[in-house]
Amino acid sequence: MKLLNPGPVTLSERVRQALLREDLCHREPEFARLQQRIRAALLGVYDLDPAEWAAILLTGSGTAAVEAMLSSLVPANGRLAVVANGVYGERMARIAETYGIDTARAAHAWVEAIDVSRLDANARQIAVVHHETTTGRLNDLSAVAATHDARLLVDAVSSFGAEAIDFEGWRIDALAGTANKCLHGVPGTSFVIARRPVIERATARTVYLNLATYLAAQDTGSTPFTQSVQTFYALDEALAELAGAGGWQRRRERYRSLMHRVRAGLLGLGIEPLLLDGESSCVLNAFRLPKGLDYATLHDHLKRAGYVIYAGQGEFAQSIFRIAVMGALADDDIEHLLRAIRSIV
Ligand SMILES: *Cc1c(COP(=O)(O)O)cnc(C)c1O
Repeated sequence: MKLLNPGPVTLSERVRQALLREDLCHREPEFARLQQRIRAALLGVYDLDPAEWAAILLTGSGTAAVEAMLSSLVPANGRLAVVANGVYGERMARIAETYGIDTARAAHAWVEAIDVSRLDANARQIAVVHHETTTGRLNDLSAVAATHDARLLVDAVSSFGAEAIDFEGWRIDALAGTANKCLHGVPGTSFVIARRPVIERATARTVYLNLATYLAAQDTGSTPFTQSVQTFYALDEALAELAGAGGWQRRRERYRSLMHRVRAGLLGLGIEPLLLDGESSCVLNAFRLPKGLDYATLHDHLKRAGYVIYAGQGEFAQSIFRIAVMGALADDDIEHLLRAIRSIV
């Protein structure tokens, strides 16, 4: 079975085998070295200076990292603007509100690009999703940075490792990511990358997700709580695989070429993308379900052919389907997929 959903992804054999490395206690020096190697490799993906930036590893899905970032890095009396143009932006607003953070939600329809005029001018920080997986939109963070001098807290869960991220130009203070999307690891480990002084000023609103606690422990090779050791093994291997294959730029080229074939093939069958080419990420695109074909029928047919696609959420549940090209896909997977779609439309 090949997974064309937005994570977890189809594993490479190399990453799958890494899950079988030897048993390891998270209080042993071998674990400390593994954790430090992963933290350094995560900074290395975008060539970040370890004197200025820190990567913090958490055991939990991507939302754990987003929640740790928002709950820890907004000051006690800070005002946070949140861009909501999809499920994940709305989730960030809900997280901030749940922690009692002074939140100014910039509401958008899910299909809309960011309207920077809706951002609260008094907010010193802006929470924004980079790749809004709801629609496949790659939000234009340079436009946000160009019109507002606030610092960004970015949900990069479905873009880290495959899209350009301008940490300085976009005034990023922190981002959240996960092992099991564009990095091709296993679900269970997520991470926050943040400027060290920003974490050192963190506000404690939660015990388990307090980033300052994690930073202090991880800088000494320790961890405040048990980590998912086998998931670390897989992420360690996945990061080595990414670096060996030419880094995020090459991964973006690979995704782009696969997605180009998906879009062209579907257009040839009369299936329209939800967004224009230049608005979509390379990672996932959304497509309108053709008339007379419901999602469940399409999904089940493709699953029998060996491919798992993804439904639309909320208002899009009946009208779109989504295809992601992350993970260990073979060159002919797209042709097989398109042939299977052709046989049902
Ligand atoms: C997948 C995803 C998340 C995290 O979802 P989890 O189910 O917690 O892993 C967060 N934001 C975006 C944009 C995502 O695509």
